[in-house]
Amino acid sequence: MARRNKIYEGKAKILYEGPEPGTIVQYFKDDATAFNAQKKDVIEGKGVLNNRLSEFFMTGLNQIGVPTHFIRRLNMREQLVRACEIIPLEIIVRNFAAGSMSKRLGIEEGTQLPRPIVEYCFKNDELGDPLVTEEHIAAFGWASQQDMDDILSLALRVNDYMSGLMYGVGIKLIDFKIEIGRVYENDYPRLIVADEISPDSCRLWDIETGQKLDKDVFRRDLGSLTDAYSEVARRLGVIPKTANVIKPTLIN
Ligand code: 5GP
Repeated sequence: MARRNKIYEGKAKILYEGPEPGTIVQYFKDDATAFNAQKKDVIEGKGVLNNRLSEFFMTGLNQIGVPTHFIRRLNMREQLVRACEIIPLEIIVRNFAAGSMSKRLGIEEGTQLPRPIVEYCFKNDELGDPLVTEEHIAAFGWASQQDMDDILSLALRVNDYMSGLMYGVGIKLIDFKIEIGRVYENDYPRLIVADEISPDSCRLWDIETGQKLDKDVFRRDLGSLTDAYSEVARRLGVIPKTANVIKPTLIN
């Protein structure tokens, strides 16, 4: 019997009704998908690591005044978050060329960009999340001009925070994707960082060796995804430095 009312099931997470109005329980699955779910696998322990890592990043952002949906972690795989209206955009920030940008523009992966570049994709699995411009966003009413100003400011603040945090543990933040939600406080709308921030949605390269410590390990068959995510978690002190390959039972 289901413990909670399921609201939505995505590729990597399930959302359940939360215990109080305006809250949601976000459950992290072990499922890994890539290339719009054409490549799929179940990677034991991935959900546990992403739950912990997203908690770590969102808590830090909350503490420096970047509002996020994160309230608290409930257990190994679940966290309590604020319910919000998700803006139907994937916001991508890039510091170094990689992935789809390298392909699209013919720039070698790893090339440092002259400044952070922010891109927007329309969140639509059937269409493969196509890149869109602010013209599309305004014309189709996906976000207002005020929203776009706030989104850009949030995205760049997340970038500065995450870049510095990663640099401190010998990791280059190549790029990442965030989602933004709208909440109402005393009837006033406010935008907050939602969804998750984890190695599933970032590109993270070791500064010394260039080793990939993110979902490209799965996308490109480069080895063990949990080894890579555990390495990130260990360096950040999210799991003990001595912890070997993570097993869900080792973390509470
Ligand atoms: P790219 O456009 O190069 O494929 O991705 C840019 C960055 O955004 C990468 O860090 C990638 O992991 C992240 N990203 C883009 N689309 C998605 C998505 O649909 N899901 C997740 N988890 N991350 C994404």
